[in-house]
Amino acid sequence: MADKYDVIVIGAGPGGMTAALYASRANLKVAMLDRGVYGGQMNNTAEVENYTGFKSILGPDLAEEMYQSSIQFGADFVYGSVQKMTVDQDNIKHVITDSGELEAPAVVIATGSQYRKLQIPGEEEYSGKGVSYCAVCDGAFYRNKKVTVVGGGDSAVEESAYLAKLVDHVNVVHRRDQLRAQKILQDRAFANDKIGFTWNTVVTEIVGDGQKVTGVMTHNKDTGKDTLVETDGIFIYIGNVPMTEPFKDLGITNEQGWIITDDQMKTSIPGVFAVGDVRDKKLRQITTAVGDGGIAGQGTFDYLESLKN
Ligand code: FAD
Ligand code: NAP
Repeated sequence: MADKYDVIVIGAGPGGMTAALYASRANLKVAMLDRGVYGGQMNNTAEVENYTGFKSILGPDLAEEMYQSSIQFGADFVYGSVQKMTVDQDNIKHVITDSGELEAPAVVIATGSQYRKLQIPGEEEYSGKGVSYCAVCDGAFYRNKKVTVVGGGDSAVEESAYLAKLVDHVNVVHRRDQLRAQKILQDRAFANDKIGFTWNTVVTEIVGDGQKVTGVMTHNKDTGKDTLVETDGIFIYIGNVPMTEPFKDLGITNEQGWIITDDQMKTSIPGVFAVGDVRDKKLRQITTAVGDGGIAGQGTFDYLESLKN
């Protein structure tokens, strides 16, 4: 027997938590599902200094503040990994998790995205043994050592600055000769003498001694030269892929798997909303996820009211 709710929010990152806050404050019965700890990507972020109201706050601390506010009007936090979602002929949504089924007339998808892999030799083999995707989680293991960061976006540059506080030296390897990161993050990184840049270069292999990473093989795209660079760890920040596998049969995603919505966060299925990083949109940030969540949370109330008429 499925557990019945007015609204099911899938994902408890900033987008999902805000949708749950708005829907439960409108007196709806809300389940907020996550397969991990609440907070989403904020748990992997050291310092957040572009979320209004806080000059600077640690990601996990912001996650805790948001969680406490999201459950204050009675939203249930339900642990579960969503495997699939279906919509029946009465337009009731069935959310199937690894531990049961929930159903509701309205659903907010807030599953975000996850890190993209380089897919090169050594990446799987040394994952957790020198290969990392999270400086906040693993940076402390590299105190006084040398690390390599791959990527040129906000994550690579911001997390390099975080790592530079712990390690001896950070070598950022980027495939072009210009960073994609915000100007303020670039300026700080260029001014940091513990951070160096290797331009127009890709990492082609991660090498180790069988136990741990000892170096990376790089290929310079200008000179064609391959070089073995010694390193104690490699942090990979090359963007994200959407977490939309459970929704792929619903016809609400684009070719790359991002969910398409209108500006009210509505998908093409009545009563199904999507918010935050999982959407096809340009600026993926905490503040935009929160904004989306507010719109969708209120949208679920309006949708349920419309069903009464
Ligand atoms: P997420 O935070 O990704 O949360 C999605 C949630 O859904 C997760 O908890 C996940 O466990 C859950 N989930 C996924 N699939 C399922 C499933 N099948 N079943 C159940 N649960 C599921 N933004 C800023 O504004 N400022 C910053 O300083 C900043 N720094 C960043 C640093 C890094 C290293 C990274 C990676 C991102 C950073 N961002 C920053 C971006 C910001 O974290 C994201 O834009 C934001 O977290 C997106 O929120 P969200 O709610 O859409 O998704
Ligand atoms: P991103 O913006 O997509 O940048 C990915 C970077 O990796 C790009 O520089 C890209 O190179 C490079 N790259 C992609 N595929 C690669 C490959 N196969 N091999 C080598 N390099 C590759 O991803 P992100 O930096 O993780 O940021 C994701 C989102 O989170 C963004 O919206 C960002 O604004 C947000 N974010 C915000 C903050 C903040 O506000 N402080 C901090 C972190 C993240 P090219 O440049 O050549 O494409």
